[in-house]
Amino acid sequence: MFTSSPPSGYVEISGDHSLSLVLLSVFIACLASYTALSLNERVRKNGFFHPALWLLLASFSMGFGIWSMHFIGMSAFSMPMSMHFDLLWTFFSIAPAILASFLAFYLVSRPKHSVLSFALAGVTLGIGIATMHYTGMAAMATNAVYRYHPGLFVLSIVIAVVVSFVALFIFSELRKWMEKWPIKLFTSLLMGLAVSSMHYTGMKAITFFASPSDMAGSHTAHANTNMLIIPIAFGMSFLLILLLFSSVLDRYIDYRISYFDGPTRLPNRRLFEKTLNKPTERCSLAIWHFQNLEQINQSYGYSFGEKVLQQIACTLREAHPGFTDLYRIGTNRFAFLAPSVEPDILVQAMKAIALKWKEPIEIEEKWIELSSVCSVSSVSGTDNPHQLYAEALAVLEYPLLSYEHEVVLFNPSVHSFSFEQEILSGLTRAMKKDELFLVYQPKIMADSHRLAGFEALIRWRHMEHGMLSPGIFIPILEQHHRINELTDWVIDRAARQIAEWEKSGLPNQKIAVNIPGEYVTSPRLKTVLKKTLERYHINPEQLELEITETSVAQSAESAIRAIGSFRAQGFPVALDDFGTGVSSLSFLRQMPITTLKIDKSFVDQVPLSDKDSAILNAIITLGQSLNLHIVIEGVEKAEQVDFLTGTARSLIVQGYYYAKPMVPDELAEWQTHFSAASNAN
Ligand code: C2E
Ligand code: MG
Ligand code: MG
Repeated sequence: MFTSSPPSGYVEISGDHSLSLVLLSVFIACLASYTALSLNERVRKNGFFHPALWLLLASFSMGFGIWSMHFIGMSAFSMPMSMHFDLLWTFFSIAPAILASFLAFYLVSRPKHSVLSFALAGVTLGIGIATMHYTGMAAMATNAVYRYHPGLFVLSIVIAVVVSFVALFIFSELRKWMEKWPIKLFTSLLMGLAVSSMHYTGMKAITFFASPSDMAGSHTAHANTNMLIIPIAFGMSFLLILLLFSSVLDRYIDYRISYFDGPTRLPNRRLFEKTLNKPTERCSLAIWHFQNLEQINQSYGYSFGEKVLQQIACTLREAHPGFTDLYRIGTNRFAFLAPSVEPDILVQAMKAIALKWKEPIEIEEKWIELSSVCSVSSVSGTDNPHQLYAEALAVLEYPLLSYEHEVVLFNPSVHSFSFEQEILSGLTRAMKKDELFLVYQPKIMADSHRLAGFEALIRWRHMEHGMLSPGIFIPILEQHHRINELTDWVIDRAARQIAEWEKSGLPNQKIAVNIPGEYVTSPRLKTVLKKTLERYHINPEQLELEITETSVAQSAESAIRAIGSFRAQGFPVALDDFGTGVSSLSFLRQMPITTLKIDKSFVDQVPLSDKDSAILNAIITLGQSLNLHIVIEGVEKAEQVDFLTGTARSLIVQGYYYAKPMVPDELAEWQTHFSAASNAN
C-alpha cells in the first residue's frame, strides 16, 4: 500500500478537484463544527435537558460533519477511471468520527481539565477524523490501484491531531478572554479546517495507477457520489440547523421556566427581584392586590380561579403603560415596575386601570366582582431597592384598607408602622409554624470539586405576602432588636439539621450561620451556642459563624474579643461580605477569624474586567498570606470558576453556578448528582 510499486504496465493517472465542491465541503465541516461547539456549551450549563443529551448531539453533528465533508470532498474529485463506493463501508465509516467526537468532547467538557486532557482530546479527535477518512477511502471501489506516500500520510494525521488540539484548547480555555461568538466562529473555522486539511492532505498522499487497457473505455469520471452529494449537503444542513435550533430552544425553555409564570405567562417574581436589584436613579412600583381570589377558588374551584387570574393578567397586559414592566409576583399580586418614572405618573396610570375593575368580569357565563387595591411606592438614587418593595408591601398591610380599587401612594407616617408591626407580631408565629425555614447553599472546593459545607439562609413563607427574602424582614427585626430571637432559632435549626444528617449516615457536615452585628458581642450568644452543642451532640467545628464586615467594624475592639472567645470554644469564624465595609488591613490582621468570604460584587465582572480580576486576585493573595480560608460568594458562571481555579489553589466557591440555596430534600437529590459527577472526574 505504501511502498510496493504498482503492477507492471500500470501508469500513473492524475485526478482533479472541482473548486466549488471543495469549498462546499469545507463549508459543511465548519458549519458542523459551529453546531457541535454550540451544543457543547450546553453540556456545562444546568439546563432543562440532561447534559449527556447535548454531548451526544454535539458528537453526532461533528461526526456527520466529518463524514459528509469527506464524501462531498470525494465528489469533488475526478479521474479518468470509473469508481464507486461500497454502501456498507460508506455507512460504517461514520462510526469512528462520531465515537472520536464523543470522547474528545467528553474530555474537554469535564469541569477539571489540564493541557494533558486537551492533548488527549486532540489526539482522539484527530485520529477519529483520520480513521474516518481512510475507512472512507477503503469504501472506494475502482479498477485503478493506489499507493500512499508515507510522509504525506503521516502528515495528514498530524495535521488533524494538532489542529483539533488547538481548536479544542482555544474554545475551552481562551473563550473567557474574548467575547463569546467571535471565538466560537474562529474555533469552528479552525476545526472545519482540521477536518478538511486532513482530507485534502490525505488525497495528496495518494497516487492512482491504471492499466492502459482499463483506461481505454473510460472517460474522466467523478466518483459516482454525484448522486449522493445533493442529499448529503441538504440533509447535513438541515440536521445542523435543527441541532443548532435545539440548543437555542433549550436555552429558551430554561429561561421561560426560571423567569415566567405558568398560568399567566407573565414574568415571575424571580425576574421581578432581579430587575429590582438593578440600580436606577429613580424607580416607582405599583402592586395590584386582589383580595377575593382565594374566595373565588373556594366557591368555584381552582381551574375557574385560574381563568379569573388569566383574565386579570390579560386586562393588565392590555392596559399596561409603555413605561412599565408587568410581573406576577404572588398568588394574588401583580406588579408594575417603572424605572425612571415619578410616582405621580404611575398613580395616574393605575387609576385608569382601576376603572376597569369597577365592572364585573364575565367568565363561563358567571359574573365575578373583583375586590382589589393598588399600592404605589417610589425610591430614588441611593435608596435600597428592597425599600421600594417593603414600602409597597407596607401599604398593603394598612389595617384600614378597603378593597374598592383605590390606588394608594406610600406615606411613611401612615404605612411604615403597620408593615413593621405585621413582621414583628408575626415572628413568633412564623418560628413556631415553620413559616420561617432554612435553606442551605453548598460551598464547593474549587480544586477538588468536593463539598466543603453549607451556608444556612433564612426564608419566610409569609401567610399574607408570600415568600419574603431576608433583605426585607431582617432590617426590621434588627431595628426593633428582635434579631437575636431569630438568630437563636436559626442556630437551633442548623444544629438540628447537622444531627439529623449524622443520624441518616452523613457524618461531619458543616453549616455556617449568619450572626447579625449587634448579637456578636452579646454574652447570650456564647451561652446559646454552648447549649446547642450539648443538645444536639455536635462539634463546634461543624458550626461556622458568619459575621459581616460592616457590623464588626462599628465596635472593633469588642468584636475582636468576642471572636477570640468563639475561637477558643472551637467555632470557625468567617468574615462575610468582605470588601463591602471599611475595615483596615491592621484590623484584619488582629481579627482571629478563620475564613474570609469575598463579596459577590468582586467576582461579578470577572474575568471580563481586567481591573476587577486584578483586585480579586490581590484580595485572595492577601487572605491566603494571612492563612485564611477563602470563600468566593455569588459565582454564577463557568468562566468565573475557570478564572478562580487558574488564579489560586484551595479556594472555596459558593454560588448559583454550583447550586442555589435548597431545602434538605432538594439538597439530598442535588448531592447524589453532584457526588456522581465529581467521582467521575
Ligand atoms: P449573605 O450571608 O452574604 O448570603 C449570601 C446571599 O447571596 C444569599 O442571599 C444567597 O442566596 C445569595 N447568593 C448565593 N449565591 C448567589 C449567586 O450565585 N448569585 C446571586 N445573585 N446571589 C447568590 P439571601 O439568602 O437573600 O441572603 C441575603 C443576606 O441576608 C445574607 O447575605 C445575610 O446577610 C442575610 N441573611 C440570610 N439568612 C440569614 C439568617 O439566617 N440570619 C441573619 N442574621 N442574616 C441572614
Ligand atoms: Mg453569609
Ligand atoms: Mg455574603
